[in-house]
Amino acid sequence: MNFKSGEQVIIIKGQSRGKKGKILQVFPKKNLVVVEGVNERTRHIRNRRGRDKGQKVSFFAPLNVANVMLFCSKCNKPRRNKIFVSTDGKKQKVCVKCNSVFGI
Ligand SMILES: [Zn+2]
Repeated sequence: MNFKSGEQVIIIKGQSRGKKGKILQVFPKKNLVVVEGVNERTRHIRNRRGRDKGQKVSFFAPLNVANVMLFCSKCNKPRRNKIFVSTDGKKQKVCVKCNSVFGI
């Protein structure tokens, strides 16, 4: 699993291909990510014995990580990343092509 919440990604497969968004949640064991604004679903909640009102709740359904790629805002393209370790030992994800740091 290569993603963390808060990172900017683009969808490269499926019906929401080309959509960009921020990662809200990751499920490393299931290889799923939830991306803001992508794969929106509606859940219908029924009225139960008059206690609650029936209502529609929209939420973002998880996507498989295989359909998602990090997005480089400098290249304006989906890019693979590499890990760059700076002199003080801090690890950062950078773009393979332009070496700019992801997630800004
Ligand atoms: Zn780049």
